[in-house]
Amino acid sequence: MKPSMKIDLVSDTVTKPTPGMMKAMMEAELGDDVFREDPTVRRLEEKMAALFGHEAALFCPSGTMTNQIALKINTQELDEVIMDVTSHVYLFELGGYSFNSRVAIHLLHGEDGKFTAEDVKNAIKPKLDWMPNSRLVVIENSSNRGGGNYYTLDEILPIASFCAKNGLKLHLDGARLFNVLAETGESTRDWGRPFDTISICLSKGLGAPVGSCLIGKAEAISRARKIRKVMGGGMRQAGILAAAGIYALDHHVERLKEDNDRAKRIGACLKTLPMVREVKPVKTNIVIFSMKEPLTAEWMLQELAKRGVRATTIGPGAIRFVTHLDFTGEMCDHLIALLEEMGNLVV
Ligand SMILES: *Cc1c(COP(=O)(O)O)cnc(C)c1O
Repeated sequence: MKPSMKIDLVSDTVTKPTPGMMKAMMEAELGDDVFREDPTVRRLEEKMAALFGHEAALFCPSGTMTNQIALKINTQELDEVIMDVTSHVYLFELGGYSFNSRVAIHLLHGEDGKFTAEDVKNAIKPKLDWMPNSRLVVIENSSNRGGGNYYTLDEILPIASFCAKNGLKLHLDGARLFNVLAETGESTRDWGRPFDTISICLSKGLGAPVGSCLIGKAEAISRARKIRKVMGGGMRQAGILAAAGIYALDHHVERLKEDNDRAKRIGACLKTLPMVREVKPVKTNIVIFSMKEPLTAEWMLQELAKRGVRATTIGPGAIRFVTHLDFTGEMCDHLIALLEEMGNLVV
């Protein structure tokens, strides 16, 4: 056992650039991207668009910005956006749908972040003067608050076809889509087809320090570029960051399965511990669990902190671990040993 080993499972955003990524950043060819003269940003945007079979992509500072731009370009005032009550767009973006786009929202109560075409059908408003126009549906895959739960493409297609038939736009918050594809083996190209816009985070499991891309039709992305600018997100020699994104796409996609597998190992271990009340089914790189009373999540987090493990709560009584690039196999073995030891101390 190495008591000095520090483990950070707060989020998959805590990763630092690897030496290889750092090298790619240092060697990036740069220009002023506000004038569209940064070749590295352009290369990242073209690569992302091609991956998803779309016409264009836009490099942005954050996934919050790509989601907020997507809401803005896919709606008008007096429109309504349909999304799950657990979604990042609803919970963790300060109600930006109201601040930036002045739209109404309709919340769905799906299962661990997932809803169906039937749910969308029941949510759309009749065309009446006193009702907002149902305009946009937001899918989050994987679902963060849903504990890394995911939709397969087969589950998306009925929603997409309902949206297409009823004049609804469809946006994918794919902050962690690549963790899903590591499980399903589905292709980015197939995932590109059903959506008007797609947001992909480079700074989560992919391990880049900063950045997300918004992907869509050329016309949508050219409007998105203006919205990014008015939000203050026009960046100059951003190629230094885009280089990290390109490196991540080339080197860190295949390995995401390791993160998912480690999360599953931790989930299986937690399940055997008498002090643990419930572990949500582990589907990707997120583990959510709760403690048996009278033990609390706060107590567990303190005990973990004493042992060099940092994690966080997500909702009342629920602890979240997120595995990532800087959480190694050795750290996973160490954590499992720690958890088993704690489980023996407290029953
Ligand atoms: C992290 C995340 C985002 C974007 O977050 P930023 O921190 O703004 O990059 C969007 N959606 C989901 C589901 C996320 O987990």
